[in-house]
Amino acid sequence: CGIVGYIGNQDCKEILLKGLEKLEYRGYDSAGIALLNHDGVHVFKEKGRIADLRSIVDEEIHGEIGIGHTRWATHGKPSKMNAHPHQSTSGRFTIVHNGVIENYEHLKQQFLQNVSLKSDTDTEVIVQMIEHFVAEGMDVQTAFRETLKRLKGSYALALLDKENDKVIYVAKNKSPLLVGIGSGFNVIASDAMAMLQVTKQFLELMDQETVVVTKEWVEIFNLDGEKIERAPFTAQLDA
Ligand code: GLU
Repeated sequence: CGIVGYIGNQDCKEILLKGLEKLEYRGYDSAGIALLNHDGVHVFKEKGRIADLRSIVDEEIHGEIGIGHTRWATHGKPSKMNAHPHQSTSGRFTIVHNGVIENYEHLKQQFLQNVSLKSDTDTEVIVQMIEHFVAEGMDVQTAFRETLKRLKGSYALALLDKENDKVIYVAKNKSPLLVGIGSGFNVIASDAMAMLQVTKQFLELMDQETVVVTKEWVEIFNLDGEKIERAPFTAQLDA
């Protein structure tokens, strides 16, 4: 399973799909991408191979910001409905997740009694909780952190906000995730291999860190919202 993401100045469909192909070796049962552009978020997902996903991605739809996912099902059978990305009820938030949220049933009872979930995944609880906290008045970054503080388990996450096409929110705990640094763009990936096609500069992330990724800059925070400085490294690998 794996995650990729891109934010920059060029249509990223192909970068995401190529990235997911590079992650195929990690194993998966379904795959999906989400593209954000001026008319909203466009989600394409399918059970099966990246080739199956490719065949349903609409060539006409462009996005200069996007996230992608290969799923290894842990909660909910492999199916199109349970494939990622997952969206909140309003459609505002879109998420991809690798890992396992051990307390998702409990979180569902505690925060989402009035929400009808669209999938059987542990992942959907995360994106619905973010929407729930935003509805209570939190800004998105705070809602993201408050959600993360309540999760027990492992996650690599990337989140899109339909109302802000300038940012991808990222977080990691016990599942791998790197930020790739470009010039005029930035990317994310579970494994540097997936993004060697566009950069060799990467930022390592530690557990319980969140990252705000824009096309010009990247800022790392801990779960208390304190900023963390870290220098990128150069991947010693060939594309
Ligand atoms: N636990 C999530 C699911 O079953 C994510 C699985 C993964 O890491 O791909 O959908």
